[in-house]
Amino acid sequence: MPPLEISTLPELEAALDELYQGIERDCWECKDPDCMGFVWLLKQEMEKLYELGVPLLEVNDEITFIHSFPLTAEGKPNFAARYPPCSQLCADSRRCNIYKDRPLACHLYPLGFETKADGTIVWAVHLDCLYIRRMEERGLTPDFESRALSIINSITPQLLEEIVATYRAVDAISCFPYGENSYSTLQEVYRVKMQTRS
Ligand code: SF4
Repeated sequence: MPPLEISTLPELEAALDELYQGIERDCWECKDPDCMGFVWLLKQEMEKLYELGVPLLEVNDEITFIHSFPLTAEGKPNFAARYPPCSQLCADSRRCNIYKDRPLACHLYPLGFETKADGTIVWAVHLDCLYIRRMEERGLTPDFESRALSIINSITPQLLEEIVATYRAVDAISCFPYGENSYSTLQEVYRVKMQTRS
């Protein structure tokens, strides 16, 4: 059971680790191209990764990514690259070099955020993930979704707002595709919407 209130990043990561217990077995067997995309960081995650020597890229003084982007002919990061492979993924072992220190964006997967065509941000479950596909085959999806919602709804509005504000900034410059990204919607991120409108 997640704590009644999740107000810090370590608490959220611990709850997600519990939710995903055993996922590594599916990750090892997964044949999909792993760990590709825009790996974004919360402000509070930057210092630790910087000290670990992870290459970081700050955009518009606002968003920081693990730097995995190819460079354009002018030597600038190419944000049009659709799924840049993460620079922290070891090409030989296919393991993450910073697994225990991986950022929230990685801890969350296969949960994440998606933006609907009307601009609504939702909590999403990525259906391409082998762990999710196997859960579906075993009829365990309702239980997983219930446990995921229990965690999501325990996150304090302050922490959720920090996370979603970062996602919004990332979404504004990234090339996450509409349509091609197969996901199911868990619930709307309504608490953040209500806060930012007032
Ligand atoms: S930081 Fe690690 S877990 Fe996250 S995308 Fe990169 S290789 Fe994968």
